[in-house]
Amino acid sequence: MARLFLILAIVLLAVVLWRSLQKKITTQTSTRRPAALDMIRCDYCGLHVPEDRTLRLHGRHYCSEEHMRVDNKR
Ligand SMILES: [Zn+2]
Repeated sequence: MARLFLILAIVLLAVVLWRSLQKKITTQTSTRRPAALDMIRCDYCGLHVPEDRTLRLHGRHYCSEEHMRVDNKR
């Protein structure tokens, strides 16, 4: 019985170690990611903005809420 608990403890430890390793890998890749992001051109002023910072409306991209509002009033 004691052997069973030992095996269970080893498996549990392996799982915990594996998960922490996976977490480390994903945080490393996510911190490296912004440099690889595509630059998107604002359809109002032409400014290039990282893809994750653009605002999208009706298939158009904007650098700021103001440009999105002004362009859609026209
Ligand atoms: Zn703009």
